[in-house]
Amino acid sequence: MKAEIIAVGTELLVGQIVNTNARYLSEELNAIGVDVYYHTVVGDNLERMKAAFETAHRRSDLVVVTGGLGPTQDDVTKEALAAFTGRSLLIHEPSLKKIEHYFTSRGIVMTENNVRQAHTLEHALVLPNDNGMAIGVALVHESTRWLLLPGPPREMQTMFANYARAWIMEQMGETTSLYSTTLKFSGIGESSIETELLDLIENQSDPTIAPYAKEGEVALRISTKAADREQAERKTAPVVAEIRARLGDYLYAERDIPIEQAVVELLQRTNRSVSVAESCTGGLLAELITSIPGCSQVFAGGIVSYSAKAKIEQLDVHPETIRMHGTVSAETAESMAKGCLRRFGTDFAMAVTGVAGPGEIEGKPPGTVFIAVADRSGARVYDLRLSGDREIIRMRAAKAVLYRLWERLRSQSEQEC
Ligand code: ATP
Repeated sequence: MKAEIIAVGTELLVGQIVNTNARYLSEELNAIGVDVYYHTVVGDNLERMKAAFETAHRRSDLVVVTGGLGPTQDDVTKEALAAFTGRSLLIHEPSLKKIEHYFTSRGIVMTENNVRQAHTLEHALVLPNDNGMAIGVALVHESTRWLLLPGPPREMQTMFANYARAWIMEQMGETTSLYSTTLKFSGIGESSIETELLDLIENQSDPTIAPYAKEGEVALRISTKAADREQAERKTAPVVAEIRARLGDYLYAERDIPIEQAVVELLQRTNRSVSVAESCTGGLLAELITSIPGCSQVFAGGIVSYSAKAKIEQLDVHPETIRMHGTVSAETAESMAKGCLRRFGTDFAMAVTGVAGPGEIEGKPPGTVFIAVADRSGARVYDLRLSGDREIIRMRAAKAVLYRLWERLRSQSEQEC
């Protein structure tokens, strides 16, 4: 099946937002064996949209369109497909009732334009929106399959995963479904993982192994087609076991969660607490931890000590340490972590100090970062040389110290077992 993705939205054309929907859909379609040949972006304009549909219809078996399903006048994707296919727009009554209920239950008067969000097309399948109001649409016109999905990524992804994927597979005549397991790694780069698993990746056919890198984390998705989850697990288990044997030191989860969630869960399980002392990450580490629900059981707080004065006054870093070694040094990182541990009285403290760039600090180039993890027995410091721009360096530094804490917690809990 040859597919094309059309993202609708003038914001995309003027560069206000990035077309992340196309990336997500390409990844998902490729995973189920659909080849994506084109990405198109078109503004919120009925005529240009119809022209884009005409082109897609000629060259693709499947066209996935995102955006323009909302209530406002510029949301005309359904109108454009109705005009192109010569089908009428209809109101899907159960969806309209859901939308009306949303407004009445909040005591808000529903404006007439919201009815548009319940529009479907003649002879189309309605795809429910579990995270919003605008419904999606699936239909076959002549020999082309069409899917209209909402623009907001959260709504689009849920609709794809819950309804659209199964519809595509049905259209492809698949009697099996695709099952995936995600393994998450930290403390190791994507290329090192690939090198370690080269033979498995090169000889893969079923299950397939696909690596995806994010800042400070790598995901490996192991996918297989099977009649049910049990059969899928039987097929993937030997591959997962082999990967675990080779890369177990870096494998922090066998599901798609960020390293901060693995750390919070491990702290909860072992009944331990943590605090943070941050310089170049400026609160990012605390932000990552507090994005995990339930972190209040284990996270005491943090200190953003950006200046040398703040490091001395807030974290008891000795002025002599800074004078001798600089604010970006192993000694300062160690002292920050120990000071943080004392101030908060937690079981662990993490510290980060470094040069996020673009300029040098104390003659040290961007990417020079020292991280430390302290507990009552002392502190361990790690010297990192990170690449990337300011934002990437800060994220990699935060993820690196989380990985070091996870490593420490895991080895302690293994010893206790
Ligand atoms: P709404 O009900 O919010 O109007 P919609 O289906 O009409 O939903 P759009 O109005 O096109 O969708 O987009 C809504 C928002 O969704 C955009 O402002 C943007 O934040 C996000 N969005 C839309 N398309 C994309 C895309 N291709 N990639 C990433 N984000 C997108």
